[in-house]
Amino acid sequence: MKRLLLLLMLAPFASAQLQVDPRIASEISKIKAIDNHAHPVLPTPDDTGYDALPVENMDPYTDPVRTRAGSPLAAEASRQLFGAASPRDLIEQKRAGYPNWVLDRLGIETMLANRVAMGPGLAPPRFLWVPYEDALMYPLNNASLASANSDRKAFYADEDRLLKQYLKESGFAAPPTTLNEYLQKVVDATLARHKRGGAVAVKFEAAYLRSLDFDDVPRTAAEAVYRRGHAGAIPDADYKKLQDFLFRHIAAEAGRLGVAVHIHVAWGAGGYFHIAGTNPLLLESVFNDPALHNTNFVMLHGGWPFTREITALLTKPNVYTDFSAQTLINYPRAVSQVLREWLEFAPDKVLFGTDAYPYSEETGWEQSGWIATQTTRQALGLALTEMLNDGEVSRERAQELAHMVLHDNAAKLYGLLSYK
Ligand SMILES: [Zn+2]
Repeated sequence: MKRLLLLLMLAPFASAQLQVDPRIASEISKIKAIDNHAHPVLPTPDDTGYDALPVENMDPYTDPVRTRAGSPLAAEASRQLFGAASPRDLIEQKRAGYPNWVLDRLGIETMLANRVAMGPGLAPPRFLWVPYEDALMYPLNNASLASANSDRKAFYADEDRLLKQYLKESGFAAPPTTLNEYLQKVVDATLARHKRGGAVAVKFEAAYLRSLDFDDVPRTAAEAVYRRGHAGAIPDADYKKLQDFLFRHIAAEAGRLGVAVHIHVAWGAGGYFHIAGTNPLLLESVFNDPALHNTNFVMLHGGWPFTREITALLTKPNVYTDFSAQTLINYPRAVSQVLREWLEFAPDKVLFGTDAYPYSEETGWEQSGWIATQTTRQALGLALTEMLNDGEVSRERAQELAHMVLHDNAAKLYGLLSYK
């Protein structure tokens, strides 16, 4: 009966499923996962806290086939999750219990919720908070940066709003006059507040705003830029130095507080997204900075399309990756090839993630969560079956690897072992 149900659930991926070792598939289907990265939505109307930089209102661009409007995957996900009911009916019925019900349907034990704020229905231990810190990197006038294109214009307006909120929560109406005061009373104070609010990690989606080459800038240089920028307009290249300094300061402080740093490292939505600026190798000097060796970094989305660069970077002791979003935009076979390479190299550094997100009316966080979890089980099954067939791992080790990727690696990283 259980086997039949599994086959029915995987029906849309039947051709790939055929090649997964049935005992591996069965083991994978039983693991209750930790989702390293997702954007669940509150079960209340008009929630906008699921992203600091919402991506639904960007200039038109070419969407990957799997996530295009009318994709059969979204309809199948709705059918599997809701049957004849509508999400609205189920929310009415289950109220604050609805998000937990969705997690149960997805086979997810714990979801890291990357949101501006949490709320009723999204609570520990099932949902753990990952707030955004990009806004703290932009305390000066952002008009010049925002003028690059329409997407950046919208994003910088979002960051300006969020910084205003963080300033207000820190007791300021505007950034203080010195960098020293800004660091202590706004940046560190905000991070401490986020930690107290339950954050297990902090998130940077800086790749939507700039490239990921955060240089090691001396404090005196950053102070000078802050002082001049506070008084008037400065060149973008000078402002970058301050952002670079602030990024490293925040990363160091996160390490001191014991929260991981999540960074969007991959292709991103939009026709203006700077793909070359997300090459994971741009982060190498950050990972090699001795001052940041107490900080754990997680490269979200596995660097796609730069997945090989990620493989090499996993040798850094404090660097991890997840494959969230890859399971939405790519088919199981392609994801399995990436996973196999990582599992052959540094399997203790690979985390499962969905990037469940309210992409559209037809693909909510529930449907995208379903597509990502089903694709993950397929891809992981394929990778482990190949490794088993090629004599690289024993059956026992293949099962152990499945548990590591879906649960144990994240449990260790975030200290969630008690939730097992
Ligand atoms: Zn995301």
